[in-house]
Amino acid sequence: MLYRDSYGSMALRLDGRKVAGEIEKCLKDGVSSCLKQAGRPPGLAVIRIGDDAASAVYISNKEKACARIGVKSLVFHFNQDISTQDVIKEIEKLNRNELVDGILVQLPLPKQIDEAELLKAIDPDKDADGLHTLNLGRLLKDEEGPRSCTPAGVMMLLDNYQIPIEGKRVVVIGRSILVGKPMALMLQSANATVTVAHSRTRDLASLTKQADLLVVAAGKPRMIGPEYIKDKAVVVDVGIHRQPKPIASASSQGGKTLLCGDVCFEEVSKIASAITPVPGGVGPMTVSMLLVNTINSWKNHCGLSLRMTDLLP
Ligand code: NAP
Repeated sequence: MLYRDSYGSMALRLDGRKVAGEIEKCLKDGVSSCLKQAGRPPGLAVIRIGDDAASAVYISNKEKACARIGVKSLVFHFNQDISTQDVIKEIEKLNRNELVDGILVQLPLPKQIDEAELLKAIDPDKDADGLHTLNLGRLLKDEEGPRSCTPAGVMMLLDNYQIPIEGKRVVVIGRSILVGKPMALMLQSANATVTVAHSRTRDLASLTKQADLLVVAAGKPRMIGPEYIKDKAVVVDVGIHRQPKPIASASSQGGKTLLCGDVCFEEVSKIASAITPVPGGVGPMTVSMLLVNTINSWKNHCGLSLRMTDLLP
């Protein structure tokens, strides 16, 4: 399974795109086999506020993924200047809508919107992103419930490549509610010894150099170079950034932006035993976990006997 690329890298490339494709195939089969019994397809409502360009791309990717597996997606696009209360009214309508199994609010939100209030307004059983306080509490207590998509996607990717976690030293860089904190909880539940680093952590490299598994969610482009990595560590790069391409390559390769992560992929690949690329690593897995949460909620709403463990590869 060793992967060698044009840079001479020896790290195994953890291919999120490929694993997500396999998950989608299983989910598609599961949806089509239960459609008659359910009487309707699973439904996902996406709330978009304003015109953030990156959000438009992410939502379009989610809509395409829904279409591929038979989930009906509905995008509600509101003006940049809508109030928190008006969005909450729309969320409450979706909570009551029997055709909707999952609701997600695309982040980031305009400044005047109270993100916490919106997330709190979503029915916890329709919480497609797993960010409702109740669901974060369920995660803390190891109870069942929709899980935060990005960290759940990381866990699924590691599991798929049979990367051992139990007893390993793990460092998670970042402590956001979206990624770092739920990531640390999931890894702890899998019996890793977890340290969480953040912007006030001193001598980060001495900490990360002890990590058998390093998960980077700092939101800083190419912040982590080889000097942060233990020999043969597994490196998961959650970060995603759009950066302007050098003028020469922009004209020859089409498109003006280049995606990169928080990790210097080429350099770190020479030291790590396995690494996620950006793009094509954690991103596609996040979308898969959104689909898993939506289908799981559909299963519950329609009283299907389907078990998610039977649906996943
Ligand atoms: P965030 O809310 O900005 O949190 C970043 C975290 O990193 C914070 O806890 C911050 O510490 C910490 N941090 C920042 N600079 C640091 C430094 N120099 N050293 C150590 N820690 C540092 O970001 P997020 O929402 O968690 O997202 C992180 C990245 O993941 C972003 O690039 C985002 O675009 C990406 N992302 C990708 C996906 C995907 O599907 N691939 C999904 C979600 C997010 P403090 O708490 O002290 O400020």
